[in-house]
Amino acid sequence: MKLVFATHNQNKLKEVQALMPGNVEVVSLQAIGCHEEIPETGQTLEENARIKAFHVAHTYGYSCFADDTGLLVNALNGAPGVFSARYAGPHKDASANMTKLLTQLENETDRRAQFETVIALILNDVTHSFKGSVPGTITKAPRGKEGFGYDPVFVPDGYNQTFAELPFHIKNTISHRALAIEKLTHFLLALKPS
Ligand code: IMP
Repeated sequence: MKLVFATHNQNKLKEVQALMPGNVEVVSLQAIGCHEEIPETGQTLEENARIKAFHVAHTYGYSCFADDTGLLVNALNGAPGVFSARYAGPHKDASANMTKLLTQLENETDRRAQFETVIALILNDVTHSFKGSVPGTITKAPRGKEGFGYDPVFVPDGYNQTFAELPFHIKNTISHRALAIEKLTHFLLALKPS
């Protein structure tokens, strides 16, 4: 089976390709000639994932899945949440986003947060959703060089290292996206061959 993953983020593509069963070929947007920025106009992670998957499925005619991820911080009442990518402005600058987050939490003792991912899959014109979340805490300063986005400031529960300090295969076993992909994979493996 061939599925398009509706993302331009090469890090995400790498994470997801490493988790998919051998009989599922995950193809990038680049590979189908889609170079446009797909609008993320939803008010929830689920809406955004569905908008992206729907756009690719209907414009390019492929079975497709899309994810949307947010970092939900307790002391900020769930912010930046669905607005995580543009938290510090429209340029989606990961470093500026982390700086803003750490500034907002400067005098905060409650540093609990969670990453949440929603995946929307469009297969034969039907949409299916899969969710994954991972609890953790926000550090006082960025640490580590792996990963992307908010990884240097997030320590998942049960670990002392940030996602950016953990080896790729560890993050990619325990992360929000890995958990959502696991549900997607179970769903795909249970499909009857048509
Ligand atoms: P999106 O799902 O690509 O729209 O991502 C929303 C925001 O969350 C962006 O700022 C991403 O960099 C960030 N993000 C998504 N996935 C991860 C992750 O696995 N680790 C750290 N940040 C992430």
